[in-house]
Amino acid sequence: MTLVPFDDRDGLIWWDGELVPWRDARLHVLTHGLHYASAVFEGERCYAGNVFKLREHTDRLIASGRILGFEIPFTADEIDAACVATLAANGLTDAYLRPIAWRGTEMLAVSAQHTKIHLAIACWAWPSYFGADRMKGIRLGWAPWKRPAPDTAPTAAKAAGNYMIGTLSKHAVEAEGWTDAMMLGWRGQIAESTGANVFFVFNGELHTPTPDCFLDGITRRTVMALARKRKITVVERTIMPDEIVSASEVFLAGTAAEVTPVRQIGDHHYTPGAITEMLVRDYEQLVLLPPAEVAKLAA
Ligand code: PMP
Repeated sequence: MTLVPFDDRDGLIWWDGELVPWRDARLHVLTHGLHYASAVFEGERCYAGNVFKLREHTDRLIASGRILGFEIPFTADEIDAACVATLAANGLTDAYLRPIAWRGTEMLAVSAQHTKIHLAIACWAWPSYFGADRMKGIRLGWAPWKRPAPDTAPTAAKAAGNYMIGTLSKHAVEAEGWTDAMMLGWRGQIAESTGANVFFVFNGELHTPTPDCFLDGITRRTVMALARKRKITVVERTIMPDEIVSASEVFLAGTAAEVTPVRQIGDHHYTPGAITEMLVRDYEQLVLLPPAEVAKLAA
């Protein structure tokens, strides 16, 4: 695999209000965010020139910063405009966007009350996460790490530190040949994959774990709205691992993953079916609509 490093590409990155050449968007090594994971970020997708649910992502970014005890020094309107400006500067209409806010270099210790808060936004072309074979479904292995309790980590924030166990889990299952990891929560309940929420079809109903120790994804909420529009009963509840043997369909939902069928979790095999296919299609169509239409269909 030829990797094009993320620091050696053409384009412009928005940084604290300026567009800087991509290769110049560098940090000092003694940055608090790097040492202590005092960073929050977003993953957004722009389709046909519109960032899907831009304001929801911006609001979550600001909220994640507040959960980590800092205030991003830009308003939601300014952040939205900066995302749009970054896309335009890079000439992209279909892309992935990565805003990130972090504590700077003024202090380098656990206590970091007087660090400056920075914000950068990058974007790049990123087609479907799981490629053309998406409808065949992906395979999830059981993660060796559990999502922590909400009083153990800032689980409601899209915070860099929460991804440490995601990377460890994904690496562990990739070593065994799985596509991604199925993570349990601290009580042993089904939680999510390393970068997307999970849905199960039980007797024609759509069930998804209550997001009490992991992100309540924007795609997750969108899929729930789309399912309800289709008159599918949607149930949020605690789902235990021994129940999933009786699910008829399983899929993931996330900004990067979009709606992705799952064909295996550990020893359990599934066949992507009618409900998954319908929601894959409904989501694909929804993301292409102008924001006002999206708001009407999946508020
Ligand atoms: N869980 C995790 C761990 C994630 O990284 C993501 C992607 N942001 C999600 C769930 C899904 O969130 P969203 O639909 O808002 O992208």
